[in-house]
Amino acid sequence: MAYDKNRRPGGKGRRKVCAFCADKVDYIDYKDTAKLRRYVSERAKILPRRVTGTCAKHQRMVTTAVKRARYMSLMPYMND
Ligand SMILES: [Zn+2]
Repeated sequence: MAYDKNRRPGGKGRRKVCAFCADKVDYIDYKDTAKLRRYVSERAKILPRRVTGTCAKHQRMVTTAVKRARYMSLMPYMND
């Protein structure tokens, strides 16, 4: 039972709000790699929403910011 997809115990309501929504973030800075690093795996892959709990809107910003950070070589493309 360590594997849970969408279903959570405790019935309806109280969906986990995304960390950026909680902070009322409306722009994610690509230079903020300390924050971005939490949204990529050890191998520098962007983590899916279901892992991080980030909403669609902010996930898109994370993706854009990470890609930009990679382009600026602030973050790796791959980490082996
Ligand atoms: Zn959000």
